[in-house]
Amino acid sequence: MTICKSCLLSDMHPAITFDSQNVCSFCRNFSTSPPFKYKGKTSLMKLLAQLKSARRNHEFDCLLGLSGGRDSSYLAYRAVHDWDLRPLAYCYDNGHMPAEIKQNIKKVVQKLGIKLIYCSNEVEKNRKLFKALFDAWINRPHAGMIQTFCIGCRGGINKFIPKLCQSDHITHLLDGSNFYEDTSYKLALFGIHRNDTEAFRGGGELNKIHRQLVWAIANQFARNLHYAKPAIIINGISDFLHSFKPKAQVIYPFYYEKYEEEKVITTITRELDWHKPTYAPSSWRADCDLAMVKNYLHLKLLGFSDYDLFFSNLIRGGIIDRNTGKKRLQAVNRILLNSTQKIVEILKSYNLKRASVEMFQTLTEKTFTSVKKQPISKLTYNSSSLSRLTRRLSEE
Ligand SMILES: [Zn+2]
Repeated sequence: MTICKSCLLSDMHPAITFDSQNVCSFCRNFSTSPPFKYKGKTSLMKLLAQLKSARRNHEFDCLLGLSGGRDSSYLAYRAVHDWDLRPLAYCYDNGHMPAEIKQNIKKVVQKLGIKLIYCSNEVEKNRKLFKALFDAWINRPHAGMIQTFCIGCRGGINKFIPKLCQSDHITHLLDGSNFYEDTSYKLALFGIHRNDTEAFRGGGELNKIHRQLVWAIANQFARNLHYAKPAIIINGISDFLHSFKPKAQVIYPFYYEKYEEEKVITTITRELDWHKPTYAPSSWRADCDLAMVKNYLHLKLLGFSDYDLFFSNLIRGGIIDRNTGKKRLQAVNRILLNSTQKIVEILKSYNLKRASVEMFQTLTEKTFTSVKKQPISKLTYNSSSLSRLTRRLSEE
């Protein structure tokens, strides 16, 4: 197996190539054409000053998306302490939030003295929807379709944020995303390849990719009759229609100043008494149980997960060195691979069909050892990633 000399990606990653020095195409592209550039603290301060001035006769300066995860908690802290903003925090409970994360939200709101709108209207609906999607998926498991388990948040953003903005005449939303969270391999699992640089910058290319992705997912729905359930169809239509609603203007403060991961963790721990769920493999992506399920499945079935990309991106961005990244990735993967019992516990909490849980256990137990007995061909229909996957599995 080839592993990049600069980052942590291996040849199992879809659409990756290596040069004669064993440096991967992602690292090579990054050094010749950096996909992003920080806009600078001065620009951020100018933008926030304009916002505050425009909002001086209102109760709130902006909405702030608060998931209870590490970055949004840190964002709330910075907004109040460093930028002197009066945000209205908004949390959409997607139905998959760990108990510790809900506690974090309470602590953030209390310690910072900010108002919170907590929307839990769709918890039951989202949990039922996951059950329907998983029961369908497990009958014809396709690696690209694991991303459809992201249930709730998209609707929560597109449906409720416009309403909130309207009622309080709010125009802007603060978002704690950073440059390093890119997970483009999910497109490649459908055979969609994109220009990394374009995807970071947005624009026309991104719309085209989005259309391709919607088409690929619809195609899978059509090939698996288990997806033909009213809950899934209605949700798909609703998500589609809400995506056309007018949106708040989003400000991403971590696109302006360098993302300092260590400072994020120490600040929220010290100032906000923030805790990750004990079973979560990392503080990143710890705010959703289904994120853990997805990462577990990706790691088991493909040999890598979002964490491989995240740590590799942090290395490329100079946030951590390769050795630190490697150690952290190994630790995260070890926890994830030993989390089968916890994953089953999470799945069972959705009242999945017993047969689905059994099929899941068989799928994840045998993937590494008996390629021929497993319907690996159903995991992906991209022929190049399939051959790579099969090759890796036979080497195990
Ligand atoms: Zn690399």
